[in-house]
Amino acid sequence: MPRNPQYDILFEPVKIGPVTAPNRFYQTPHATGMGNKRPNSSATLRGIKAEGGWGVVCTEYCSIHPSADEAPYAFLTLWDDDDAKELSITCDAIHAHGALAGIELWHGGFHASNRETRDVSIAPSACSPEFVEPGHVRAMDLQDILYYREWHKAAAIRAMNAGFDIIYVYAGHEYLPFQFLSPRFNHRTDEYGGSLENRMRLLRELIEDTKSAVGHKCAVAVRLAVDELHGEVGITSEGEGRQIVEALAELPDLWDLALGGSLGNDSCSSRFSTEGYQEQYAGFVKSVSSKPVVSVGRFTSPDTMVGQIKRGIQDFIGAARPSIADPFLPNKIKNGREDEIRECIGCNICRAANNEGVPLRCTQNPTMGEEWRRGWHPDKIQPAKSDDSFLIVGGGPSGLEAALALGQRGYQVTLAEASSELGGRVVNESTLPGLQNWIRVRDYRRHMISQMDNVSVYLQSELGAEEIMEFESDQIVIATGSEWRRDGIGSNLRTALPIPDNNIFTPDDIFNGAELQGDILIYDDDHYFMAGALAERYLNKGYSVTYLTPATCVSSWTTMTNEQTFIQTKLLLMGLKTIFGQILTQVDEGNLTSHCPYTSQTTDHPFDNLLLITSRQSKDNLFHQLNQNYVTRIGDCRVPSSIADAVYSGHKFAREFGKDPANLILKRERAIIQE
Ligand code: ADP
Ligand code: SF4
Repeated sequence: MPRNPQYDILFEPVKIGPVTAPNRFYQTPHATGMGNKRPNSSATLRGIKAEGGWGVVCTEYCSIHPSADEAPYAFLTLWDDDDAKELSITCDAIHAHGALAGIELWHGGFHASNRETRDVSIAPSACSPEFVEPGHVRAMDLQDILYYREWHKAAAIRAMNAGFDIIYVYAGHEYLPFQFLSPRFNHRTDEYGGSLENRMRLLRELIEDTKSAVGHKCAVAVRLAVDELHGEVGITSEGEGRQIVEALAELPDLWDLALGGSLGNDSCSSRFSTEGYQEQYAGFVKSVSSKPVVSVGRFTSPDTMVGQIKRGIQDFIGAARPSIADPFLPNKIKNGREDEIRECIGCNICRAANNEGVPLRCTQNPTMGEEWRRGWHPDKIQPAKSDDSFLIVGGGPSGLEAALALGQRGYQVTLAEASSELGGRVVNESTLPGLQNWIRVRDYRRHMISQMDNVSVYLQSELGAEEIMEFESDQIVIATGSEWRRDGIGSNLRTALPIPDNNIFTPDDIFNGAELQGDILIYDDDHYFMAGALAERYLNKGYSVTYLTPATCVSSWTTMTNEQTFIQTKLLLMGLKTIFGQILTQVDEGNLTSHCPYTSQTTDHPFDNLLLITSRQSKDNLFHQLNQNYVTRIGDCRVPSSIADAVYSGHKFAREFGKDPANLILKRERAIIQE
């Protein structure tokens, strides 16, 4: 398809100091959970981004020295020449597709726990570390600052020798150079503390050092947290953030603007932000610097992207998550296939992977993180190996993904869905406050399938075992999902309780239209988004809601998606009442009894309505009734989990169908045995 000429502007080359980006699509640094332990996985992932059309592809944070180690999280290192050699394969993979390779040089200051190296952590001023632990952080003296500058310069030279084109001075996300900038962390009384000029001194020196070391060959980018969202006590985009950019305006070759504070500010989930949400903070930079500007904002709409350029907000379209959800986003726009963009839903499951220290995973893109170890490509799939036909029962995320991937392989697929719409759980979940973008999981797949002659969809087609057998399909895939439990079993309670009927509901009852009269008690032993989101729904409607949980905070697992603070803040401000550290003991009509896990003391909680949000169980009756070797179950029907896992399950089945199980080996990165 020819490209829409309105989007031509996105494909203009842009000069960044001594190098030129082939277009305006800029994959800003983002974590992959791979780091220096998985160099092949990282290189393949970044290479695929370049193949998909990103004109600039950056690495994640790369430690410049053993005094900054963030184990057990995955980070890169440029501590010696062997590290540079390892990173050169990433450069080669990016360059193979004509893109520029960028590297984010990092020192975490008090964020670096140094559990691996056991070096003492350093910061502008003595303080407690980021994570609660017995050790403290030492204030850097002037000699330390000189050493630090030398380490940074040496790492920049290694990065240049490895082949990188853009080298970052990273003053974002509360890391060391930013700790010097912010009066919240810098309490020094020497020439590196006090006035803004003094607090900026180190950043200025780092830029100058880096330019003098590598500036003849490489662009020097500054990533700045232009607002740390702590109001007047910190850096704000209207105050010192703006003054920093004004003072250093022409010094770097590129400005990459981010938000400070928690990483959840910068990669804010769609529940708490909309596309382009950083414009209000970063929008001024082009008016004070002639250097190219980039910032992120979960951009997935080409029209919005064009608007960003034409309105003079930025020169590049910065993207981390949209490039994870669809590494081929630029090429799709380039080739007039923008309707096929797999839009990021802003769920932050990708953040969870990094917070758990495991390879990146994505709700929308099941191939993410699997490029090297399983050989999965986001835009290519192996053609069918047989003329098997498939009947997929259930049109939720797993059934839809299986239908799409099997269809792309060329198989004949029939998808039967009981209800009148495709989407399964996301149809309901996307009606919860802030989660409307989650319907993109359904919309992308529904659209792609609608273009395929070999995939037929039947709605309002609830199938039983007999009908399935009569269909005489070669392969049967059961994707009938899961249901919320009513017996209290969850993360803490492991044996079922007798639960009376009256005024006790699960999320399924709510989505099926149950009407609640009176106050609501929510018991959350699931700990992901559901209980918090339902609490928000009912608070919005004016109900009095009490949230009871064995955890010590609201929606505790959402710390992994960097949303927990946002959720709890919002709900408390809306009037949510909370009771933490209590495990369900017994439910009677109108009363829930809980106990304290430490003292075993019990407490009664009278209720008008009880919402039990504890765990889910598979709807796998059909699978067991059919009991044939050509019947497979996928998604929540196999095991209830996140939407990401359901999509992955459907994709894995489709991708691996027909392959010899002996050849389905998960490649692993191996440590080298040294003499
Ligand atoms: P997953 O996340 O694994 O895709 P969901 O619960 O989102 O699971 O989706 C399951 C889908 O299966 C729902 O849309 C549901 O209506 C459908 N379904 C369940 N039982 C049947 C059945 N017997 N025949 C057809 N569709 C079914
Ligand atoms: Fe977007 Fe969610 Fe994928 Fe992250 S995991 S890139 S937020 S769809």
